Amino acid sequence: MNQIPLVDLKAAHEEVADEVRAGFERVLAGTAFVGGEEVRLFERAYADFGGVATCVGVANGTDAVELALRASGVGPGDEVVVPANTFIATAGAVARIGARPVLADCLPGSHLLDPRAALDAVGPATRAVVPVHLYGQMADVTELAGHLPDRVRIVEDAAQCQGATRDGRSPGSGGIAATSFYPGKNLGAYGDAGAVLTDDEERAALVRAIANHGGVAKYRHDVPGFNSRLDGLQAVVLRAKLARLADGNAARRAAAARYDALLADLADAGRVVLPVTAPGNVHVWHLYVVQVTGADRDAVVGKLNAEGIGAGVHYPAPVHLTPAYRHLGYSRGDFPHAEQAADRILSLPLYPQITPGQQQRVVDTLADALRG
Ligand SMILES: *Cc1c(COP(=O)(O)O)cnc(C)c1O
Repeated sequence: MNQIPLVDLKAAHEEVADEVRAGFERVLAGTAFVGGEEVRLFERAYADFGGVATCVGVANGTDAVELALRASGVGPGDEVVVPANTFIATAGAVARIGARPVLADCLPGSHLLDPRAALDAVGPATRAVVPVHLYGQMADVTELAGHLPDRVRIVEDAAQCQGATRDGRSPGSGGIAATSFYPGKNLGAYGDAGAVLTDDEERAALVRAIANHGGVAKYRHDVPGFNSRLDGLQAVVLRAKLARLADGNAARRAAAARYDALLADLADAGRVVLPVTAPGNVHVWHLYVVQVTGADRDAVVGKLNAEGIGAGVHYPAPVHLTPAYRHLGYSRGDFPHAEQAADRILSLPLYPQITPGQQQRVVDTLADALRG
């Protein structure tokens, strides 16, 4: 059977294969395996691409969130507001600091953090809010920034939105953001990698120090730190792929528009709800997420998978309904928009190289599955 994957990493590799091999040879010859010239070149290139002063390459996206929070003054016992509907790592980074994730609901249309709900969740112990730029578009950071008390910092989780802007602003601009280069992200490495993006030189220096055993020079330890650094080989991959990211994101936008058109009849018939783009967003479609309204979502996913279509669910449970975070004390009904989304959402295959024929087959198979 002809498979249509959720993400086609092989097709993405073929576009950069020669450049990556040449870069790997450079790293092997120079033996700069951790840090080094390739990492510096990528950090500069990604900061320029993202419109921020500084990019600090780190080991993965979860570390990036943790480092950005620590550099923003979050410590043990503090509260950090995070959306109830996110990849679990957002809450995980908070928990690893010894801080407490306080959850807030999302907006029903875009599934992005509801700024009002986030502001309502702020209390005397709150040190930060983490808006997550989910599925490839940005949450409303400006609205949050306008209403938060000075002692509460915004740390953006930009793992899913490489290349996105909202009202012309990119993640980390005027503040601090964390991103992940996990292989399946819009900009993916060939292993784990991540970065912190910021215009704040002080916080950038702190991130660099904490991620390098507490100091930027060898055997100098100004603050307690750990090890979270970017590898030279990953930097080679990332710089090669970065040169194609804008084109890849444009191809994703075109594919998303094609899905919108192909799914219009199912949407009119009330069988699916199409994804909503929030105002001001240049969406980069990390995921194309529809909501199944007229059928059992898990059964629909099962039928798509059985036909060789890599449909997924991002994510099947909101944070408060996972066993790991039961101790936070929330229950079903606390975050109705996040809960309803978790029951209905379905991610369709989307990557820059997807063809109109593949998309037609996805939609035809989905229509069959919805018929039962
Ligand atoms: C992928 C992701 C992360 C974590 O990144 P890793 O590189 O896997 O550690 C954090 N937040 C969100 C929203 C993500 O999608």
